[in-house]
Amino acid sequence: MEILDLRYFNAPISETPFELSSDISHCSICKKDSSPRLQLNGSIEIIYEGSEAIETVCLDCLNDRKYGFEHQVEGGFLTKDGILTESEQYEYLKNSDDYSLILEPKEQNLLKIEQAKVDDLAHTAPFNAFQGALWLVHCNDFMKFIGTWQHDDFVQHAPNGDPKEFFDNIVDNWNGDDFYDKQFGPNKSEHAGSVFYAFECLHCKQHRGYVE
Ligand SMILES: [Zn+2]
Ligand SMILES: [Zn+2]
Repeated sequence: MEILDLRYFNAPISETPFELSSDISHCSICKKDSSPRLQLNGSIEIIYEGSEAIETVCLDCLNDRKYGFEHQVEGGFLTKDGILTESEQYEYLKNSDDYSLILEPKEQNLLKIEQAKVDDLAHTAPFNAFQGALWLVHCNDFMKFIGTWQHDDFVQHAPNGDPKEFFDNIVDNWNGDDFYDKQFGPNKSEHAGSVFYAFECLHCKQHRGYVE
């Protein structure tokens, strides 16, 4: 299991859309096929300075910063023009009752992140996610994606040995009482299809994550 180890990514390469397969054409930038590659299909946007059409990109060229990725991040978007907050993209969000309570603080945190860190994230591979990867933020920095978690991972990381309580403490988007038991626990439903994307803060080591 080959690991991709970057500032904002520490998980198997199989958690990214990059694959080492002879079915995928050579990289459009370096023309080689020696490194895992990704055939672009419109669901993932790259940031590229050159003018030629890019159909396939490789991990080596990403490491060499020959191109980057646009990413969705907590509070907004990392685009080729820099950070765009969610309410800059969707103006109507500012009219929402809880804008100043929920979204605005996230946007402010996002705008505090230094440009060098934004550049680092742009040169990080996305992780596979049903609705597209979303990078969480903590301590004025993006968090490191550390993989998708199952029950064993919650047991291993729970500070007091209670995986369910730990899940409830770190999950960003769910508070249902029996959600953990049904979706991740040892007696989970046979229809359980939820995925937990786990992150760790580079500074205070706090874990956070979200489910799809
Ligand atoms: Zn390449
Ligand atoms: Zn932190």
